[in-house]
Amino acid sequence: MPRYAFFKGQFVPIEEARVSIMTHAFNYGTGCFEGIRAYWNEEEGQLFVFRLREHYERMHRSCRILRIHLPYSVEELSALTVELLRREGFRQDAYIRPLAYKADEVIGVRLHDLTDEFAMFAVPFGRYIEQEEGAHVCISSWRRVDDNATPARAKITGAYINSAFAKTDAVLSGYDEALVLTDTGHISEGSAENFFMVRQGCLVTPPVTSNILEGITRDTIIELARQEMGIKTIQRSIDRSEIYICDEAFLCGTGCQVAAITRIEHRPIGNGTIGPVVTRLRELYFDVVRGKLPRYRHWCTPVYEQSGGTGQE
Ligand code: PMP
Repeated sequence: MPRYAFFKGQFVPIEEARVSIMTHAFNYGTGCFEGIRAYWNEEEGQLFVFRLREHYERMHRSCRILRIHLPYSVEELSALTVELLRREGFRQDAYIRPLAYKADEVIGVRLHDLTDEFAMFAVPFGRYIEQEEGAHVCISSWRRVDDNATPARAKITGAYINSAFAKTDAVLSGYDEALVLTDTGHISEGSAENFFMVRQGCLVTPPVTSNILEGITRDTIIELARQEMGIKTIQRSIDRSEIYICDEAFLCGTGCQVAAITRIEHRPIGNGTIGPVVTRLRELYFDVVRGKLPRYRHWCTPVYEQSGGTGQE
């Protein structure tokens, strides 16, 4: 259990961070959020938050789409996050969940003339997908939310019912994850992860116009593949049957990190085991997020001033 939350402008014990059943966002899904990971580096006794700035830049963009006024800048939100983690004193990997939402206790579905609030908590966190080295996925019978109905590029709380439908039907049918198609039948993304495949030595991933969340891990992978492996990423729409014949495929996201897909329904991907490109990307990714590659150290925000967490307030 976390011990603290940032709630209504201050740090409070987690038990005090409570909302009413009348809260607008609880009734109508009128909020947006982020999912951020912090990684413990044992050798340095340091906790690094990964791409903190980019997460809050995206949160500001989500808020613009939802007409939520965030009273904090990217820098202020980053500082609040570091402060929360210091208070928690985590010496293990953690997940941070900031939320911006319509807080009024009123009936009436809308975005305007409402009061906005910001809240945040953090929890220790391990794997999101157990089978990171070889996930078995299905093509969901649900379609991804469309930009003209519910914009996927904003991380909107209410939109996650779409992800929940896809995930639950996949898991209850025995799969690890679902791939969700756009209305035109092209691959959009996983229930909470972006999708990549390897074809003819290149990475291929759906473009931002395929109703995806513009993932920060997606961006990280594109950069690492280019810089460290000399592999180019093509952003284009992907047919369903391309997955049946690609060499490798994987999901990536803050939660799932980089997870190889080795089977899609009743077909193996490649030879049915994790391939060389995904293996190398996973190695790089885990080194980068723990601050072990100097070149990418600017993506890692240290939480503790000196080595080691104090665990004190
Ligand atoms: N798509 C969806 C729907 C997600 O919820 C997430 C997780 N935030 C992602 C993609 C991956 O985004 P990121 O790499 O920024 O975590």
